[in-house]
Amino acid sequence: MRPRLSGDLRRANRVEVMRSFYGRRTLTRADVASQLGVSVATAGTIVSELTAAGLLEETQSTKSAGGRPASRLRMRASAPYLVGVDLAETYVIAEIFDQAMTRVGHFQTEVAPTDNDPESVAGHVVDCVEGVIAGLDGVGPGDVAGVGVSLPGQVDRDGGICLHAPNWGWHGVPFKALFQRRSGLPVLLDNPLKAITLAEMVFGEAGDHDDAVVVNLGTGVGLGVVAEGRLLRGRTNSAGEWGHTVLVADGLPCHCGSRGCVEAYVGAAALLDLLSDVDPDSPLLVPGDQAGTVARLAEAVDRGDPVAVATLERFARPLGMALGNAVNMLNPELLVIGGWVSRAFGEPLLSALAPVVKEFSLAVPFDAVTLAASHIADNPVSLGMAVLAFETFVLP
Ligand SMILES: [Zn+2]
Repeated sequence: MRPRLSGDLRRANRVEVMRSFYGRRTLTRADVASQLGVSVATAGTIVSELTAAGLLEETQSTKSAGGRPASRLRMRASAPYLVGVDLAETYVIAEIFDQAMTRVGHFQTEVAPTDNDPESVAGHVVDCVEGVIAGLDGVGPGDVAGVGVSLPGQVDRDGGICLHAPNWGWHGVPFKALFQRRSGLPVLLDNPLKAITLAEMVFGEAGDHDDAVVVNLGTGVGLGVVAEGRLLRGRTNSAGEWGHTVLVADGLPCHCGSRGCVEAYVGAAALLDLLSDVDPDSPLLVPGDQAGTVARLAEAVDRGDPVAVATLERFARPLGMALGNAVNMLNPELLVIGGWVSRAFGEPLLSALAPVVKEFSLAVPFDAVTLAASHIADNPVSLGMAVLAFETFVLP
């Protein structure tokens, strides 16, 4: 076990205090003390350090019964800014946030899934980061404390290396160095599973549950795990690669090199294949255009189109089975379904999934879990990466 040094503990406390303030929450020192399970004096010390560092500020006071008014604190919505980047197989989204994590700018570029040369991808990311900063009046790179980039694969955070991105065939790409060859901004890497789970812990409902699972449905699929109140990373930061657990023995080939993986059945490409299987001549289907086809399919489900409804129901089968496996393995209280494919379909996907998850879960863990769509309005990947950038580059 890793030793818990007093410095580590102080930093962990500061991280937890800041996380409790996001989302424009105002708290008293007593609130902070009860959330952390420490004395009001200890909470007061941490709050004073964070106020001195310019991260918290006093706001209005509330009268306590008979006692002195308790002053409330909130995050300072000011510079420095943080940029969170959601780099996926089909797009790059860069978003800029003030330090209270209010989004103040957005910049997006579409990328062809075949445009995956590492140098070229790093160039797109730097262009987007520069674009989102340039879009904000009176703000320049000097006002940005750091950039968090989410990559669709497994990431060595300390080395700044993308160890493996199955959909791009990347192995050991030194992405941080490629970024820094073009940009002077501090940068950190992680993957979308960690980013969305952190966003759900800080801004979504997962923060109210000690055991939660956050599912990401996109071109690739995976999940993030909150276990006993903490984001589970695993030994090599690859916990949650549920997309590459095997659903069908000797099944469909997967980009990772294996066969029968969950992702081969429930990734966005599989959804296009299902649609083509239900109706090869469907006008909804544009081969190669995942985002457009999924958007048209979701609209068609909403108007009750039988081909679209049948496609969604067939998609819900393997997805519900794989989620049942996750429920049996992790016994969460909350299962949040997110990612761009889930956002496109919304409630009809959850309705199609619920009976299948029930069918393939044991009764005891199924009865303990609530299925929910992600309610984070903004992009949770860029939001989670901006929170990580704040905690890495700003928090003392
Ligand atoms: Zn795989």
